[in-house]
Amino acid sequence: MHARRILTRLGIALAVLIVVVLGGPLVVNAVATGRPVLGLQVAGESRARVWTDASAVADGIAARRAATTVTLTAGDVTQTRTLDSLGLVDRSDELHAALLDAGRDGSFWQDVVTQTRAVWGREHVAPPPDRLDPAALGDAVDALADKVAVAPTDASVALTGGQVEVTPDVRGVRLDTSGARDAILDAVHADRRSADLPTDPVPASVTSADLTAAATAVSAAVERPLVLAARGTRVTVAPERVFAALPVTVGDGGANVGVDAAKLSGDIDAVAGKVDREPELRIVMADTVVAPGVEGHRLDKAVAAQAVLGEVQARAAGGGSDVVTLPVTTLPFREQEATPGAFTGDTTVHLTFDDGPGAHTEAILDILKAKHAHATFYVVGDRARQHPETIRRILAEGHRLGNHSATHADLTKLTPEQVTEEIATTQELLTEITGVRPTAFRPPFGAVNDVVRAAAADEHVSVDLWTLDPQDWRAPGATVVRGRVLASAKPGSVVLLHVLQPGTVDALPGIIEGLRARGLAVD
Ligand SMILES: [Zn+2]
Repeated sequence: MHARRILTRLGIALAVLIVVVLGGPLVVNAVATGRPVLGLQVAGESRARVWTDASAVADGIAARRAATTVTLTAGDVTQTRTLDSLGLVDRSDELHAALLDAGRDGSFWQDVVTQTRAVWGREHVAPPPDRLDPAALGDAVDALADKVAVAPTDASVALTGGQVEVTPDVRGVRLDTSGARDAILDAVHADRRSADLPTDPVPASVTSADLTAAATAVSAAVERPLVLAARGTRVTVAPERVFAALPVTVGDGGANVGVDAAKLSGDIDAVAGKVDREPELRIVMADTVVAPGVEGHRLDKAVAAQAVLGEVQARAAGGGSDVVTLPVTTLPFREQEATPGAFTGDTTVHLTFDDGPGAHTEAILDILKAKHAHATFYVVGDRARQHPETIRRILAEGHRLGNHSATHADLTKLTPEQVTEEIATTQELLTEITGVRPTAFRPPFGAVNDVVRAAAADEHVSVDLWTLDPQDWRAPGATVVRGRVLASAKPGSVVLLHVLQPGTVDALPGIIEGLRARGLAVD
């Protein structure tokens, strides 16, 4: 028993010696870390952890690698991307297997030998190489290409500050996608944190050189004034519209100056607005001309557009003239024979004079008196206050007096209270001046709505408009005013005249005579 005990103790001593000699560092390591031992070197990891928790270490390494960024530069665009977003393939399983391969195969002695080598720093596990999934990398490159892409800008001809200038073309940029893919792969494999990606220039389809000759031609056409003339009317076309009418187009044969005369239709309309005029009737009664008749004029816009087109085409070709005369058609007046007594029944025509008392009211009263004719005067309160004698004369000579508001405002734009005040204060004033309360009211501008009608009803006045408007306030001249009244008057006509223009005064005797010559009464 004693010898066996000795042998046993010798065996234990031998075993301890073996462990101490071969496994000494392991023991030291175990004592130092308090953990089971392995010393594989993995960058950033403690040796002990690599052995005890290889799976988590592999996951951690893969996650860090996935989160590693690389800065991609292409043209003006810089993007920092994670390797994960560039399609990094997850290799945590491969890494785990590599760690296990390198670390242990399960036998105690293998462990001892391998671990011992590892502890001494001679065992190193390199991570398996990075790989990028081609489809994911392709998507990432395509997305980057969209960001990098800059479309080229074609050269163009513009009018700036009255000068025709060529705006130069700008080349575009596009990503060289296959070169970019290679550059990214190179950077990832070499573990670089940045990559410059190649780009290609994209030329514009229209260059400045293409447009130079056309721009010179347009410039010559735009710098000269273009005047549209018709019947003494002249409209100068703005250079911007001449420019717009000469569009520069680019085709296979190079740049051309086009023609778009429709761009000048606004100018033709402006000429027509000044030239167009309807003819007035000529009225003759018993060899006496009571209305002289007035010729009308009309600009033929289709013919005018042709003339303008011809000018613009000539300018595009380097010719043309400065003034384009547009053809005007003369519209003859019709003659109408007026016969006395042609009308039956009540043949009265009602003359009315608005907006007084004014500079010509007294002259109009003189004419009416001389012709034994009567009229209605719709007077403005603010003016009546200045000329009470004229107001009294109107009534004294047998004319009718009407209310035309206090200030000649558009009553449809006022509040109900304001409308009432406009009518009521004028009623009070006229009653005060004449002793007679008016019963007639004409709204300024003939502007009427329910509010105006209600206020007039409250003040017990009628709302009077008119049936014949010769537009005498536009001062077309006595002949025209007279002609318009005589051409359209018929029994019961209410003629709107004003006390504002001398032409109305001059027309009045002829109007009264002409109406009476036609068998109409001016009471
Ligand atoms: Zn008026």
